[in-house]
Amino acid sequence: MKVVIVGGVAGGASAAARIRRLDERSEVVVFERGEEPSFANCGLPYYVGGVIEDRRKLLVAPKQMLTDRHRLDVRTHSNVLSIDRQQKTVHVRNLLTNQEYDEAYDKLILAPGAAPWRPDITGINLPGVYTLRDLKDADVLHAAVARGVRSAVVVGAGFIGVEVAENLVHRGVQVTVIELANQILPPWDAEMVSPLQEQMASRGVHFVLGASATQIVTDGEQLTVTLSDGGTRETDMVILAVGVRPENSLAKSAGIDCGPRGGIVTNEHMQTNDPDIYAVGDAVEVTDFNTGQKTQIPLAGPANRQGRIAADHICGRPSTYRGTQGTAIVGAFGMAAAMTGLSEKQLRRMEIPHERIYIHPSHHAGYYPGARPMTLKLLFSPSDGRILGAQAVGWDGVDKRIDVLAIALQAGMTVYDLEEVELCYAPQFGSAKDPINMAGFVAAGVLREDHPVAHATDLVSERPEDVFVLDVRTQGEWDAARVTGATHIPLEQLRSRLHEVPTDSKTIAYCKVGQRGYLATRILLQSGRAAANLSGGITSWQMANGETVGGD
Ligand code: FAD
Repeated sequence: MKVVIVGGVAGGASAAARIRRLDERSEVVVFERGEEPSFANCGLPYYVGGVIEDRRKLLVAPKQMLTDRHRLDVRTHSNVLSIDRQQKTVHVRNLLTNQEYDEAYDKLILAPGAAPWRPDITGINLPGVYTLRDLKDADVLHAAVARGVRSAVVVGAGFIGVEVAENLVHRGVQVTVIELANQILPPWDAEMVSPLQEQMASRGVHFVLGASATQIVTDGEQLTVTLSDGGTRETDMVILAVGVRPENSLAKSAGIDCGPRGGIVTNEHMQTNDPDIYAVGDAVEVTDFNTGQKTQIPLAGPANRQGRIAADHICGRPSTYRGTQGTAIVGAFGMAAAMTGLSEKQLRRMEIPHERIYIHPSHHAGYYPGARPMTLKLLFSPSDGRILGAQAVGWDGVDKRIDVLAIALQAGMTVYDLEEVELCYAPQFGSAKDPINMAGFVAAGVLREDHPVAHATDLVSERPEDVFVLDVRTQGEWDAARVTGATHIPLEQLRSRLHEVPTDSKTIAYCKVGQRGYLATRILLQSGRAAANLSGGITSWQMANGETVGGD
């Protein structure tokens, strides 16, 4: 059997190596139009930033290794121009010699990835306007910074925008990030990425949110970016990071079906409407594991898994792709934000019933040196407790918690299961009651109606008059910051001062992170009052709207 693969990086290289492991006899030809196969796209921002100093480290599986170890026929600088499905050939141009030829296949795998989107605005192709996709782009950016670039405008605050911004700061560049949404990292819920934005701002990144770039002009030396809010920014360089579009031209012109967002349509074995042609990676439309709907989610993990599944199926194994869950992480200046499953805003948009809780635990035992705070948000079904999504932001241990929750979500687990999961523990690694267990306890407690929760949105200034907001923290905490209109009764005095809490209104109790508020809620509920605990305490309130500080 002869398998031809178009695209030799994440999905393509995974498929090629897997075919060889399963079948020693097949012939595998990989066409890659770039200079290297199997490079680390995800490492490119860190090479630009000088964190990865040695460019050779980006070459995950160099051509020679793929040839020697896996006996793959890897042809770089080779652009596949068209597919002839009747003849079962691809037409290829060698970009070094300009020679063109046909190559026959029995099975074809398309793994061409996705190209950075360039919005149709004036000046988008000016010198000094860059995108970052491959080694060549990284070299150009690296060299531009080395030539003494002092300022940069990054358009788009998604993963790549955030990572590029951080890395340009590492190189001493003044960075402004422009983002159309009113938050960075739009797939997350806004309050869960505000700490990361603050951290980036504290390291000098300037943000313009709720605005897009509408025009770029040059005076020969500098670029001027005009924004939709009427402002302008002068800069030495512009990096576009406004998303990617599936590379589907080969597939389309060969009559392979593509979805409404341009992704190549496949079945669960990654097979297109031509059973001899498979497609994997950023170029394909995927099923959202959480909703069952078709979507595009360009991530490295799914691309690699899909490559493996296509290879399995070609070699006679019935592997299937389960869909993409959207598990992702991004970091900047030591901080990380991670998520899996559905966000609250997606759940709202899709009108899926959900409940949420916030906790703010330390990443390991608080008494052990180096404990750092994190915020964990858990979204779950109010009817059966099934986990719908989770997000976390903090310093250390964010990845570990979201990874555990990603597995729990895929396994269809509930918040009641999280109460029971047994995770490794020693003080320098976690807590005997790990944040995962804590999230389970809190969420399950809500569903059992042991302690109803309220949220920052319930404490807006125009809240109903019959809501009594009770701060149960210490005097010092109260003096430092409080929720407007709250009454202060420290938890330790609550039982003796219970008569001060009205019986005819609902009390929302809060503390710093939710634990004392929970105890207060239990006391109030058992006294016959209607009560709820502000989930995540004043810390969640501050993350949501930052309006707390200052006494009144
Ligand atoms: P690619 O890896 O892009 O490979 C496609 C290859 O096909 C390209 O090299 C292209 O040259 C080649 N090709 C295309 N058309 C042809 C043709 N006609 N003939 C020959 N060759 C062709 N994902 C994460 O999960 N985590 C991260 O931290 C992360 N960071 C990223 C950072 C950057 C800067 C970038 C650009 C991406 C990042 N990603 C990250 C996304 C991740 O890299 C992609 O999801 C993944 O590489 C997709 O794999 P793929 O095989 O579909 O496409």
